[in-house]
Amino acid sequence: MSDKILLTADRTLTSDYHHNEFIGFGACAPPNVIPDWLYKWLFFPPIKTKDGIPVAAPYGLRKIEAQLLNEGFDVLTVDPDHLGKYIDEAKILGIHVMDPFGIGPASSTFAAILKKEPFLAQYFHILMNKPEIRKAKRRGLKIIVGGPGVWQFKYRPEFVKEHGIDCIIAGEAEKVVGKIFRAALNDDDPPQYYEVPIKETPSLEEIPEIVAPSINNLIEIGRGCCRGCKFCSVTLRPLRWYPYEKILREIDVTMRNKGGVCLHAEDVMLYGSKNTIPNDEKLLKLHELVVKKCDGMGWSHCSLATVAAKPKLFSKIAEIILQKQPWWGAEIGIETGSPKLAEKIMPAKAHPFKPEEWPEVVRSGMGLMHDNKLIPACTLIVGVPEETEEDLIKTIELMDDLKDVRSLIVPLFFVPMGRLKNEDWFKEAEVNELHQELLIKCLKHDLYWIDNLIDLSFSGKWYKYLLKPFYRLFVEIIRYKVKKAGIK
Ligand code: SF4
Repeated sequence: MSDKILLTADRTLTSDYHHNEFIGFGACAPPNVIPDWLYKWLFFPPIKTKDGIPVAAPYGLRKIEAQLLNEGFDVLTVDPDHLGKYIDEAKILGIHVMDPFGIGPASSTFAAILKKEPFLAQYFHILMNKPEIRKAKRRGLKIIVGGPGVWQFKYRPEFVKEHGIDCIIAGEAEKVVGKIFRAALNDDDPPQYYEVPIKETPSLEEIPEIVAPSINNLIEIGRGCCRGCKFCSVTLRPLRWYPYEKILREIDVTMRNKGGVCLHAEDVMLYGSKNTIPNDEKLLKLHELVVKKCDGMGWSHCSLATVAAKPKLFSKIAEIILQKQPWWGAEIGIETGSPKLAEKIMPAKAHPFKPEEWPEVVRSGMGLMHDNKLIPACTLIVGVPEETEEDLIKTIELMDDLKDVRSLIVPLFFVPMGRLKNEDWFKEAEVNELHQELLIKCLKHDLYWIDNLIDLSFSGKWYKYLLKPFYRLFVEIIRYKVKKAGIK
């Protein structure tokens, strides 16, 4: 057996989602109103491969690949359906996970409502049960798992044992993967669960640059968040922003696959800043540099507070981005419409505004996004332990104020994470009338805007005539089901 290391991720993570990162969220849902094969084709089709090697891979996996290559390991990133071609030569299989058991906030909410296992959990199981992996395991293959979803393995110890997972790495792993993979290659048992301590968090210089394209050209521009919301697992590690040159070099690598890029940070508006106030000069320069290089761009996340705090800066950024595209998207956390609850669970989310100003920050930020063609995919948290009826009423009122804002708003059942990790899960049995009212408001809001969003998503795309009718049909079936359920 050689010392080869294979890296992979399940099908729901190894897809380009028809070049739209947000379509990928469809993998959080369980089987539903259309056949599974059609759903897979619409929401997470297999990515192109050459000899079983995917043309792009999840960004986090690319970082680990780069780190291992830098340390001299023999590494290959392989599509999950082509592992059989390479696995006989491998001594270690590294697997990247996001939500392996479907118990993350979005998937567990859909699972509770539709009472079935989400696709992303199904496909993780399909990967782990592949006969070629089982066979390789029997002859001594080591399995090491990493990625943002590893916390879920603590709830599934039997699965870890049954599938022979040798090591689970939690946290930013660049500084530790070398020693862990080396131990595994030398047949020294790696630790079963390795939580990367703060002192092993990589500095900017220690974060390697990717060497092959990432899915949908997602490129990290920085790490960390200083807002410290209680329910969030992003730690309070310091903000680290990559210098322009590092970002541009990674764009050069990923743009081998052409298309636009997706800038990734917990709040893209804070690029280059030391606190919660955007740095005009750095943010503008970053966008000017990126727009020159790429056919377009999107953001992974941004906060309502930074947009509301700097409306002129936000409009200038929008002007730069809209030179090459009609709209762009980002994931946004609204979480609640209640100032009291905001103060309890996310006191710095509104900063530089006060927590009691949160609903106004949301209204103003969302209005600016609508006017400047940023389409937000927003989340609300339902069932936080400290939530009261008054909090829910405030959130319902906020939904009324947002009805004219082009957006998707998704309510998510509370999942114990971050500093609330010892609290209880919110269960569907606890859904009361106010929760129901809120869920229905969100559903109606999304069904109202979805046609517009589908049109915008496909505008200017050559394949719009092929794909668009299927998404429309999917939405029409949901509308029919909603009507049949008596929801008006
Ligand atoms: S929820 Fe967002 S703003 Fe709050 S700590 Fe997490 S990443 Fe930061």
